[in-house]
Amino acid sequence: MITVKSERELDIMRRAGHIVKMALDRIEELIAPGITTSELSKEAERVIIKADAIPSFKGVPSPYGGVDFPAAICASVNHEVIHGIPNNVPLKEGDIVSIDVGAIFDGFHGDAARTFEVGSVSPEARRLIEVTRESFYKGIEMAREGMHIRDISSAIQKYVEANGYSIVRDFVGHGIGTQMHEPPQIPNFVTSKRGPMLRRGMTLAIEPMVNEGGPDVRILANKWTVVTSDGKLSAHYENTIAITGNEPEILTR
Ligand code: MG
Repeated sequence: MITVKSERELDIMRRAGHIVKMALDRIEELIAPGITTSELSKEAERVIIKADAIPSFKGVPSPYGGVDFPAAICASVNHEVIHGIPNNVPLKEGDIVSIDVGAIFDGFHGDAARTFEVGSVSPEARRLIEVTRESFYKGIEMAREGMHIRDISSAIQKYVEANGYSIVRDFVGHGIGTQMHEPPQIPNFVTSKRGPMLRRGMTLAIEPMVNEGGPDVRILANKWTVVTSDGKLSAHYENTIAITGNEPEILTR
């Protein structure tokens, strides 16, 4: 069932979302050649805990039978798409790194992701990051009362493919609230289903994952990290949003 949040619940979700954004802002400040994703995760965890929230990714069971997720953030470098496990490998000039952060405040979740540049990156990498971010904004133009999930999916897919990139199909956006993943699923591509109609008070995590090459991905032996099958770059952009009576509201800001 799709939950509809009261104004009081939306207010808590704004606070959860703001904490996620603070953690992402702190990571953006720190990202530079030489820092490790493990250091970034520790700093994000510190920001989240200081704000009286809980890092929601830590301890999540692997969907593929691996270890529980060990860190506060997902950090996915270059051809890694999502769910990268933070480690002690220093980031290098020219890398791109997708950082996904989740926090629970007063029982409600916030979830957002950005792909950051490490030092100066190639024009190709920069364009991939920009198209991925812009595809999110094309998607939420459709996130209005009376529209359907597929309207969001279609806007994202059209923009990404018109720019010569491909959409990851094995992972999708999701409803969010007292659970990190609630119905409905929000594919970033059109399927045969129109999906539910959007109503005010629904809260959604919209998260295009965009590949420079083909759409296919595989999962590494650690049972977490998703990588592009062709080894080409991938980028990710996500916010938690609320459907309102007018413009959609970004909660992770
Ligand atoms: Mg998400």
